[in-house]
Amino acid sequence: MPTDADISRTPATVMVVDDVAANLQVMASELERGGYSVVVAQGGEEAMERAALVRPDLILLDVLMPGIDGFETCRRLKASQATRDIPVIFMTALSDTPQKLAGFDVGAVDYVTKPLDGTEVLARVKTQVALAEMRRELADRNARLAQEVAVRQQAEAALQRSNAELEQLAYVASHDMQEPLRMIASYLQLVEQRYQDKLDSDGREFIGYAVDGAKRMQVLINDLLTYSRVGTKARPFEPVALQTVVETALVHLRVAIEESGALVAISNPLPKVLGDSTQLVQLMQNLIANAIKFRGSAAPEVRIECGDDGAAWCLKVRDNGIGIEPVYFDRIFVLFQRLHGRGSYPGTGIGLALCKRIVERHGGRIWVESKPGQGSAFCFTLPHPAGAGDA
Ligand code: ADP
Repeated sequence: MPTDADISRTPATVMVVDDVAANLQVMASELERGGYSVVVAQGGEEAMERAALVRPDLILLDVLMPGIDGFETCRRLKASQATRDIPVIFMTALSDTPQKLAGFDVGAVDYVTKPLDGTEVLARVKTQVALAEMRRELADRNARLAQEVAVRQQAEAALQRSNAELEQLAYVASHDMQEPLRMIASYLQLVEQRYQDKLDSDGREFIGYAVDGAKRMQVLINDLLTYSRVGTKARPFEPVALQTVVETALVHLRVAIEESGALVAISNPLPKVLGDSTQLVQLMQNLIANAIKFRGSAAPEVRIECGDDGAAWCLKVRDNGIGIEPVYFDRIFVLFQRLHGRGSYPGTGIGLALCKRIVERHGGRIWVESKPGQGSAFCFTLPHPAGAGDA
């Protein structure tokens, strides 16, 4: 017949501590009948020695014993690293509540009253052994989890370090490329001006291509420098009025707005946020510039809207342009990813990756809502700053 202790593969060990040999015998045979392996001790001192050696799964401990009594034994068991996790059940003849509570104070998990009822003792032992097993499993799992978290944190720290190094490298490399490039561009211009008469039309055309290439490279280097600066040359956050941010971005885009005949409207008052004003101007500028650049046949219409989801401001830059296929919604935020050739729309493919970095540095997220041919809305969140109100 299966017994309580059959639940686990090796039978659980229960230590019974009592100064009366006859009590020990009765309890031991009751527990063995329940399928437990039993160890006995006839006093507190002996119990502590044996418990440290055998590490039983549970201790049934008599309260009134000569020498150190059950309470003191329990206190000492709980004070020792080797035995502190072993659950203790008191066997007490004491009927008054304060005495029973004293058992819990010294660390017992339960008590049974003498004269003992074998079935009740077995039921309580079974429950406490199972609980102790669960506690052990939980502690093991927590330890494993803590270890995994530590490993992951180390990996993240290493990744952050190598990202920072890469950014630094990109910054230095781009910075160092500026000078030779400036030299190439200025010598090309010199050749163009001084030797115009000596060059045939092919020669002038080739120089023109070279000048164009140098200009494109200058734009690319500037964009890369701006991109790597988000991480390396970041300024501390301060209260920033988004209204001013958008107005500054529009001043920077004046030529593109005038040339395209774009209409740019701010739909509702914009709030104050906590952030890096230079980066936020860059963010709005990129989004508005794209809204104008990727226009369809109609004159561009750009609307800037602001909502509030309770935890963050939600800003949208909406356009009436060519739109984007949903399959590209994630890809366009990756560095150098472009959906069009330079012939149709000029660009470096850095703008949206830069926007994503800026938004993420501000604790927000960015995404696009769009349908081909029906315009796009670039949305991003900025968490509410503590203490900054509406502009
Ligand atoms: P770039 O503008 O230099 O091409 P971005 O990183 O700013 O690079 O944009 C990546 C791509 O996302 C663009 O090449 C374009 O295909 C698409 N895109 C960005 N903004 C819009 C928009 N407002 N409407 C349609 N397509 C857009």
